[in-house]
Amino acid sequence: MSLGAGTARSVDRTPPPGKAVVSGRIALVGGVALTLLLVATAALTPLVAAAQDSLRVFISVDMEGIGGVGSPSMTSTSGKDYATARRLMTDEVNVVIAALRAHGPVSILVNDSHGDHQNVLHTELDPAVSYIQGSIKPLGMVQGLDDTFDAAVFIGYHAKAGDPDGFLAHTGSGSVKGLWLNGHEVGEGGMNAAFAGMHGVPVILVSGDSAAAAEAAAYAAATVTTKTAETPSSARMVHPREVHRRLQAGVRDALERLDRGDARPWSVGAPVEIRMRFQSPTHVDILQSIPGMSKVDGYTVSYTAADADEAYRLIRLMYRFVQQ
Ligand SMILES: [Zn+2]
Repeated sequence: MSLGAGTARSVDRTPPPGKAVVSGRIALVGGVALTLLLVATAALTPLVAAAQDSLRVFISVDMEGIGGVGSPSMTSTSGKDYATARRLMTDEVNVVIAALRAHGPVSILVNDSHGDHQNVLHTELDPAVSYIQGSIKPLGMVQGLDDTFDAAVFIGYHAKAGDPDGFLAHTGSGSVKGLWLNGHEVGEGGMNAAFAGMHGVPVILVSGDSAAAAEAAAYAAATVTTKTAETPSSARMVHPREVHRRLQAGVRDALERLDRGDARPWSVGAPVEIRMRFQSPTHVDILQSIPGMSKVDGYTVSYTAADADEAYRLIRLMYRFVQQ
């Protein structure tokens, strides 16, 4: 992983001139060859440099914490103003991409992470980024994130299930009442940060409502607040233009921390004991079919996974694909 965004960029890769020139015809042929070599080198050098020096950033984007999204129906495909929420979500992603680009060469993967993972108006994204759409993927909100990345950014996030100060707070789905990884209570952001941390990738920025931002302070280098919950399903908004300004400043701050080495991967260690508390005891009973799963009490299961990667896959399976 390259941590800095500029250490190798100033290196001059042009070969020393003149060595091919000997005498007479050979010198001419050598000169032509040298010219062609120099032209080819000049053409390739920026590509090689970009490939070697680009920062690799993974972006996961949820919808509840996007600026301008202030009601449950905005986050639902059948709800009033869902189209507006998609627009706001897309605009925020592009603001973050532009702010990352302003810092230097960057390679970006965007993973849609809300609902059916088909929300961002991807044809309107910066065409240079890669984008993952669709929700049938074992790693869900962190699909595509691996140890080739230098940093992760979580946009539009919400607080964990049960946070009384959170807007639309939940963990995975409404069936989950609590999630603990080796004793740390986490929401979606913490679970994703633990996965990133296992791969040596620091979370440099998280945006969301004030409770989501407070929660993220435990694992992220910088946070941006986009709104404050009035109640669990209503919010006191920050205007999207002000949110964009905060995101631009937040990206700058986060990248400076990354450059200084102040952004560290967040680890819960290994192995990972998962504890998951559900709304329904029937859910817990069904999960006993998984080898190694134990019942802590009528609403809570426990499983010890080898690492955060295995833990992530199992957690996603338990809340998303196992129904009561
Ligand atoms: Zn969501």
